[in-house]
Amino acid sequence: MAAVDIRPPAVPTLTSTKADDTIGIHRILCVGKNYNAHVVEMGGDPKTNTPIFFLKPPSCYVPSGATIPYPSQTDDLHHEAELVVVMKTGGKDIAEDEALSHVYGYASGNDLTRRDLQNLAKEKRWPWDMSKGFDNSAVIGAVHPVEEVGHLSSGFVRADVDGETRQDSDLTKLIWSVPEIISILSTYVELHPGDVIMTGTPSGVGPIAKGQTCTCEIEGLSPAVVTISA
Ligand code: MN
Repeated sequence: MAAVDIRPPAVPTLTSTKADDTIGIHRILCVGKNYNAHVVEMGGDPKTNTPIFFLKPPSCYVPSGATIPYPSQTDDLHHEAELVVVMKTGGKDIAEDEALSHVYGYASGNDLTRRDLQNLAKEKRWPWDMSKGFDNSAVIGAVHPVEEVGHLSSGFVRADVDGETRQDSDLTKLIWSVPEIISILSTYVELHPGDVIMTGTPSGVGPIAKGQTCTCEIEGLSPAVVTISA
């Protein structure tokens, strides 16, 4: 009998605005509750807020411009516009003042969420994996290298659905800044090249229906656009 040879799917790659650069995705690490107004709309208290991290597998990645089917096992698919940070190098216990030196670049992202399943998980104290880490749940636009856009600490964070503004905030309202997120995350796990960090969403999250197009955009970056097939 021939030996079995199991080959998982290839690592997905992000698109850089610098055409010759290759960015394989190692993991997608996400921050929950990183804008006060969103903590409040989710029923939380920002004063007692501590960083919450969760993961999406690399297989969740969808390039901007894609049309995806309405996800299974939900009747309440939500958009979450987020600043995405792409790591070029990693490390453990990274100091805050060293953190930005590990960043390759930035992108606009949409942390698609099965909100009904997430609410059930919160109520039952179940894990969030199936409400967050499902197929096609991480829409990420073209990555802009630091050499092109610098480091981002201000600028709008917006989401619109079929042209109607749903989320409109600013990176200055992040509870934890990018250097703080990188530094704190690196005390939980060693960070590696190709780690992709979704930094959390502001208030205004809401549903996307079949046939609608959602555009998430960070000021100065290419948008993350996704259409749900009718
Ligand atoms: Mn999110």
